[in-house]
Amino acid sequence: MSKLSGITPSGHVHLGNHLGAVRRWALDGGAEDLYFVADLHGMTTPHNPPKLRSLAREQLAVLIAAGIDPERVFVQSDLARELGALTWVLECTCNYGEAARMIQFKEKSAARSASVEGGGGGMDGKSKGQAGVRLSLLTYPALMAADILLQGADEVPVGEDQRQHVELTRTLAKRFNGTYGDVFTIPRAVLPPTGARVKDLADPTRKMSKSARDAVGVVFVLDEPDQIRRKIRRAVTDGGSVPVHAPETRPGMANLLEILAACRGGSPAELADGFSSYGAVKDAVADAVIEELRPVRERASSLLDDVAELDRVRKAGAERARERGSHRLDAALRMIGAN
Ligand code: ATP
Ligand code: MG
Repeated sequence: MSKLSGITPSGHVHLGNHLGAVRRWALDGGAEDLYFVADLHGMTTPHNPPKLRSLAREQLAVLIAAGIDPERVFVQSDLARELGALTWVLECTCNYGEAARMIQFKEKSAARSASVEGGGGGMDGKSKGQAGVRLSLLTYPALMAADILLQGADEVPVGEDQRQHVELTRTLAKRFNGTYGDVFTIPRAVLPPTGARVKDLADPTRKMSKSARDAVGVVFVLDEPDQIRRKIRRAVTDGGSVPVHAPETRPGMANLLEILAACRGGSPAELADGFSSYGAVKDAVADAVIEELRPVRERASSLLDDVAELDRVRKAGAERARERGSHRLDAALRMIGAN
């Protein structure tokens, strides 16, 4: 059995990514599991090339610093040639309608065209509606299918938002195998074990997010301890004074207690009983988060400082992933009628 998980460098890695995903990848990843920094996926909407490059590097350092075996981590663009070729094969296996009805495409393309038109993009009548929508936003699921199928992953742990893309990957793998010959493992979407769902400290009705417009409520894994403490002290809570765990009515306090539970163990409701003021909870959360992130930040910083070592690890991870997958690309190209 092998699993594949990726993280897009759409922003700095935050506490939610760490507690909800990366820490678990480090703890219970199987020997065949693979993790990757999905930088090619970060190009489907307007992006800044130097920033994308540095975020990808930072994310790789954070994954390794969190304890994921470096042999099982790679950066997606280091396999751009293989993935690009396989994406083409899969685009030639996918129908336009199948890609166009992906919910994420509909939502993101609608949001993009609305923002471009709203900003007076000056489009003519014909192109209105697709204004500023990159073709890659439509073809994204073919690249995601290539990520999965190149590596022969059996299981893809994904949230609800990516489930439809994994279903399409299954469809394409079965169609390819049935039409041209057996090349691909048929993957399935699995629900990741329910971990902490960390909310934004400034708006606890929303999840903490890399691409949040405002970073005041987002604790980044590489934040300095005093920054972490400041952000947690300023976390929005309700007007109560005695801490209780009531996610519906007191989402801000509930979020803090859940973060504390994720760092320290125990249940949020029980932890609440140990405190008599909101301030005391915030202090305890700040201490726990600082200690939780300290080793990751320290290891990541030294990796980022040691350019040659990070390059070496990165290259080795990419080579391993390439070796693991290239025979499938070769077979797929042969069977579809190329070379
Ligand atoms: P973006 O805003 O670009 O979507 P993100 O912060 O949502 O970024 P993803 O790259 O979408 O991060 O997700 C990476 C992993 O982190 C996924 O496994 C996802 O479930 C997990 N994750 C993301 N945000 C949180 C959160 N707030 N709490 C717990 N887990 C999270
Ligand atoms: Mg997300």
